[in-house]
Amino acid sequence: MSFSDVLLQGLAPDGGLYLPESWPQLHLEKLKNLVKKEKSYQALASEIIWPFMAGMIKRADLDELVERSYASFNSEEIVPIKRIDDSIWLAELFHGPTLAFKDIALQLVGQLFDYRLAKSSERITIVGATSGDTGSAAIEACRDRDAMDIVILHPHGKTSEIQRRQMTTVASSNVHNIAIDGNFDDCQNLVKAMFLDVEFSEKIKMSGVNSINWARVMAQIVYYWWTSINVADGEAVEFCVPSGNFGNVFAGFGAHQTGLPISRFIVASNSNNVLDRFFRTGSMEARTVSPTLSPSMDIQISSNFERLLFEVLDRNGEKVNLLLRQFRESGLFTIDTRTLDDFKEKWTSACVNDHKTLETIAYIYQETGELIDPHTAVGVTAAIEKQDERSCPVICLATAHPSKFPEAVQVATGIQAELPTNLEGLLEKEENFTVIQNDLNAVQEFILSKIID
Ligand SMILES: *Cc1c(COP(=O)(O)O)cnc(C)c1O
Repeated sequence: MSFSDVLLQGLAPDGGLYLPESWPQLHLEKLKNLVKKEKSYQALASEIIWPFMAGMIKRADLDELVERSYASFNSEEIVPIKRIDDSIWLAELFHGPTLAFKDIALQLVGQLFDYRLAKSSERITIVGATSGDTGSAAIEACRDRDAMDIVILHPHGKTSEIQRRQMTTVASSNVHNIAIDGNFDDCQNLVKAMFLDVEFSEKIKMSGVNSINWARVMAQIVYYWWTSINVADGEAVEFCVPSGNFGNVFAGFGAHQTGLPISRFIVASNSNNVLDRFFRTGSMEARTVSPTLSPSMDIQISSNFERLLFEVLDRNGEKVNLLLRQFRESGLFTIDTRTLDDFKEKWTSACVNDHKTLETIAYIYQETGELIDPHTAVGVTAAIEKQDERSCPVICLATAHPSKFPEAVQVATGIQAELPTNLEGLLEKEENFTVIQNDLNAVQEFILSKIID
């Protein structure tokens, strides 16, 4: 498959996720020099993304798309880095238009879609599920574009007010919000089922922007290189990543596969700890989702985990397929102890409840004066818990701006985190969304009524 077909298709026809046939090998010294000389996130991004996109685009065009993608960010550094402790750094991934890390990939993916569609004058429908942050980031990346409609499913009443309003107040005729009576996994399953319904997906020319889209993972590889070169000059570091669907931390693994020295990944979960249980026991077992202060991680099925499984099982698709089929049928799969040991060489995990999350928000504020959001706090808690095991810096990914989850920040610190100026007025704007039951037919009918006239 070419990069541009993978971009538009999102999910493979058999329901699997795409990965590059082989990982391009990047030159650490060359990238270090580039960062030192240009001090530009965008220059590094083009250099890293280029080998993945062979043949789709001219280098000068890619440079321009990358520039455009990050023009809307409210920090010139794009991803600023702060030291909060002797060994702990915070990489702020939340300076994009919707205040969460997903903007970093989706702003670029929106540009890539547009570039690709302009060439073929096709019109497509982007359909995605969100637990809160993907939806708004995708809508911001696709709004007002001629060549696409965007339909976003979110779990009714289960996102924060700010998250919902960032989606539902966008007044653009190509944006359609659906609130599903169900949880995030229901939304994600509906999207998967629509992809697999070939007649339907061809009719609406369906495409995806969930973190199952390979291009998003690719775009996220960049900030692992960026932060590690800036913090440790490319020497080994650990990354601590607040995780849900596993797209973010898998991009870190992608950075490692392309040649970045990373000694360990810490996967931090809230009390929906399916990932933490897996890394401790080797069993992946979905349970019911319970709501937490970090709703973007309230997930029991981590789609991108499939990609890591494929790599750890030496790219044996048969084995991956077998395990995932067991998981779909019984909600459980278990790997053997040797494979679990392979995982443990590079991976560790932690589970952080709401109480500890609030304590960490308060502690970091006291110690450093920085406000952090509850997702970031889950990660920082895990990094602190594992401090004794470490001899190198740890970079914690700060995945959302504190003002996106103001209630938790207020409870923990007594401080009202201010929205950045570009989002003022969000709480007064008119909302637009349709509530639909958790039913494939009903959702498909609604989409057809909006798209096909
Ligand atoms: C989406 C999201 C996460 C989880 O990222 P995954 O790639 O799904 O693991 C964590 N924090 C925030 C704020 C998010 O929006």
